Amino acid sequence: MLHYPESIRALIGNLSKLPGVGEKTAERLAIHILRKPMRDAQALAQSIVEMKQKIKLCTMCYALSDADRCQICADASRDQSLLCVVEQPADMVSIEKSGAFRGLYHILGGVLSPMEGVGPQELRIAALFERLGQGQVKEVILATGTSVEGESTAAYLAQQIAPYDVKVTRIASGVPVGGDLKYVDQMTLRYALEGRHDI
Ligand code: ZN
Repeated sequence: MLHYPESIRALIGNLSKLPGVGEKTAERLAIHILRKPMRDAQALAQSIVEMKQKIKLCTMCYALSDADRCQICADASRDQSLLCVVEQPADMVSIEKSGAFRGLYHILGGVLSPMEGVGPQELRIAALFERLGQGQVKEVILATGTSVEGESTAAYLAQQIAPYDVKVTRIASGVPVGGDLKYVDQMTLRYALEGRHDI
């Protein structure tokens, strides 16, 4: 390391802060960037800064988005009567990849976990009921994970939604117990969605 000039050391230092990137890999990446044309380096640096500047949360579903409304919420061809409730943006991405769902999403931002001090106030539950109150949603699919917290969050939401004139379903088993949606393969997710049941 010490035998590199300061600017290369700085880049190696910054790259090695990334998850899964050790100093060896950071060194290799830095040398790779150094050998590539200036335009490649500029494109890389610019895309990092642009992403940080542009990405915000969709005002409807709380997905990551470049605009006030994400691509899914802005897509009028999606079924506005179906709302899939997930824990995190990555879960939404997994379901999208499965291609099994053409409705809208609501991202809770986590699961209820009294042990860790996460109550309904800490999740985007009030925003969910605001959406239900608008009357377009006819079915809520609870697609939180199958961990204890995921199951109890689904049960809590089902209970809270009951007074509304909305069907509530839960994704079918097939998602392994304790399973995090983002690690579940697309076929399993497709079956889990198609086999959803009333709760
Ligand atoms: Zn959205």
